[in-house]
Amino acid sequence: MALVMASDPTSEPAIRIENLTKRYAPPPGATGAEAEGKLALGGVSFDVPEGSIFGLLGPNGAGKSTLINILAGLVNKTSGTAEIWGFDIDQQRRNASRAIGIVPQEIVFDPFFTPFEVLENQGGFYGVPKALRRSEELLEAVRLADKRDAYARTLSGGMKRRLLVAKAMVHSPPILVLDEPTAGVDVELRRQLWELVSELNRDGVTVVLTTHYLEEAEELCDRIAIINHGALIANKPTQELIEMARDKVVRIELEADMAELPKEEAFHRCELLSPRTLEVTYDRDAMSAGQVLAMVQAHGHTIVDVTTREADLEDVFVQLTGTGA
Ligand code: ADP
Ligand code: MG
Repeated sequence: MALVMASDPTSEPAIRIENLTKRYAPPPGATGAEAEGKLALGGVSFDVPEGSIFGLLGPNGAGKSTLINILAGLVNKTSGTAEIWGFDIDQQRRNASRAIGIVPQEIVFDPFFTPFEVLENQGGFYGVPKALRRSEELLEAVRLADKRDAYARTLSGGMKRRLLVAKAMVHSPPILVLDEPTAGVDVELRRQLWELVSELNRDGVTVVLTTHYLEEAEELCDRIAIINHGALIANKPTQELIEMARDKVVRIELEADMAELPKEEAFHRCELLSPRTLEVTYDRDAMSAGQVLAMVQAHGHTIVDVTTREADLEDVFVQLTGTGA
């Protein structure tokens, strides 16, 4: 299945984002801090390497959709630049749009079109000549060939998502962007979407997906950027990000309630899960669990039980953002 325009083998990034800023207009009549408008992106820069599955990870409200919608031409940036496949989104909007297919976060369809018609209409929108349209092939690729002539409104949520992926690929863009493709979908459908995305990527499509699921980013993406409150706080190959999780976590059950956390430079994090349950995160290269316990005891606490575990991507995320996912 050849879904993509031929790409040249130079190492130009598929997407280049530099110092991208977005401040939304304030609501009418806003006063105080609100009158400034919401700063959704505060100067974000990163490249998406060609051929990668790139994960843009961040909690709700981080600015992911704002960034995607700027690339899609749906939101006007305040400042900064973005290039898609080498085309500036301001100077060369048409070419930039032709190089990217976007699956939006919200599913919107005219309920009275069939999947085949949805794709044909989209092909027409992009000016793809009838002879060159690949609606059948795309329906096949997203496993909707048997729904070719069903009304879109009769499709399940999962089928609609897959149809949106096909719709985004109608003009054979080398880059596919999916904004939270698996938010609120069941495990089975998530699997299907992951498979579809991997397949497209194997065929040469550069994929960008936003998600607030760490597990998804970890499983699917070869590179992960993390944004929080409109700022980029990490951008690394997935493997490296996971290796940052060199920390270990020790959970300590105490004999008596702990009134004050033991302050130790060597502890990366120290947290009471209950008055008698202390969790300490530490660098396993720098110290041992035994040393952690000794330090806690030196603060005058009696330990009754201990469990340890390795840190995972979730812990890295918490470490970087200071929040839960
Ligand atoms: P994410 O997709 O990561 O959840 P968004 O990009 O949707 O984040 O939102 C980033 C911030 O910008 C949030 O605080 C959100 O409330 C705000 N925001 C998003 N869209 C608008 C808008 N049209 N007008 C004003 N504020 C907005
Ligand atoms: Mg969003």
